[in-house]
Amino acid sequence: MNQLMDMLADRKDEMIAIRRHLHQNPELSFQEKKTAAYIINFYQGKDVEIETNVGNGYGVIVTIKGGKPGKTVALRADFDALPITEETDLPFQSKNEGVMHACGHDAHTAYLLILADCLIQLKDQLHGTIKIIHQHAEETPPGGAKDIVEEGHLNDVDAIFGIHVLPLAPAGTVGYCSGDTFSGRSYFNLKIQARGGHGSSPHKANDAIVAGAHFVTTVQTIVSRRLNPFDTGVVTIGSFDGKGTSNVIKDSVEIDGDIRYFSDQTEAVINKELHRIVNGIEVMFGVNCELKYDVGYPPLYNDPELTAFVANTLAKVKDKDIKKVTEFPKMTPSEDFAYYLEKVPGSFFFIGCTPKGVDEPYFNHHPKFDIDEDAMLVAAKSVGYVVLHYLNGKEG
Ligand code: MN
Repeated sequence: MNQLMDMLADRKDEMIAIRRHLHQNPELSFQEKKTAAYIINFYQGKDVEIETNVGNGYGVIVTIKGGKPGKTVALRADFDALPITEETDLPFQSKNEGVMHACGHDAHTAYLLILADCLIQLKDQLHGTIKIIHQHAEETPPGGAKDIVEEGHLNDVDAIFGIHVLPLAPAGTVGYCSGDTFSGRSYFNLKIQARGGHGSSPHKANDAIVAGAHFVTTVQTIVSRRLNPFDTGVVTIGSFDGKGTSNVIKDSVEIDGDIRYFSDQTEAVINKELHRIVNGIEVMFGVNCELKYDVGYPPLYNDPELTAFVANTLAKVKDKDIKKVTEFPKMTPSEDFAYYLEKVPGSFFFIGCTPKGVDEPYFNHHPKFDIDEDAMLVAAKSVGYVVLHYLNGKEG
C-alpha cells in the first residue's frame, strides 16, 4: 500500500503533463480516435491485456491480472470532451476550436493511466484482477457505458469504482453520496406545424407561437401538479425557435427540452404527461405535433455498502494528500456510469478540484472551467486505497 502511494506521489508531474496534453487535444464524443491512440500507446510494451475499440466507439479496456487469487474490480475514467469554445487563460488551452475538456475528463484519464501503470508494476503482489476501463463518449447519449456493459465486459466484475472531479471543494477533499446520487436524464424535441399567415388576419391562419407558448406553460404543471411532492423531477424547456418578424404569423416552431428524475417511475409519469399535453395542444389549437422523446441516462445509484466502504477506507487512511472525506448531496447532472451500477455494485465518488485562491469556481461544462491539478494525485491515491483495500478483503 505504502509502496503504491509513494510511486503515485513520485509521478504527480507526469499526471499533470498527461492532463495538459489531453487538455490541448480534446475530441468530441464518438470521435476520440487520437485520444484512444494516445491511451493505447501509453500501455505499449507493458505486460497487460489490451482490448481496443470496445463498445460503440473508441473504448479501451486494460486487464491487470494479479499474482494472487482474488476478486475482479473495474475502475473507469472517461476521455471525451465537449462542444464548448474554451475561455480560460491557460497556457495549454484547447488547440481544437470549439472543443474543450470542460468536464475534467482529461484529469480522469491522466490519473487513471498513472495509477494503472503503478498497479501493473506491482501486479505480482496483487490479489485478483483489475479491469481499467478507459471509456469514450460519456457526454453524448447513448454514451459509451451502455454498450460496454452489453458487450459483457462487466460479466466477470465483482465491483466497480469511478470518480468525478467537482469544484465543490478544494483539492484534498473526497466526497461521497450513498444511494440516489445523480438524476436520470431524458430529452425531447417537439415540432409544431400550424398554418402561417398575415399578422393582420389571425382568423385566416393558425399560430404556431401561441400553440407553442401554451405547451411551454402547461408543461410546468407536470412537476407542480402531477408528481408526488416527495419525488424529484425537473422539466426544462431549453430552446424555442420562434424567430420571425412582427407582422407574420408563424407557420411552425420547434421546442427542445430536458428532463431529470431519480426513479424510473418518475420518468414514466413525466413521459406520459408530456405526451398527453402534446395531444391536448393538437386538439386545442388544431395543429400537428411531432414529439421525439429519448431516454438519456438512467439515475445513478451508488451501492450503500460499497459507498460506506469507500468513505470508511478513506476516512481511516493517514495520508497528507487526503485531507477531508465528507458526504456530498445528491445532484441533478447525469452520468452514464449509472449503467455500470445497474450491472454490478459500486460507487462513483467525487474529488474536490476548486482552483487555489478561487472563491466562486466555474462549474463543469463552463467555458472557463478549470481544476486544481493537485486533485489528480488525490484521485489516484483515493482510488488506489479503495481498490487495494477491496482486493485485500479489508473492511472499510
Ligand atoms: Mn463528466
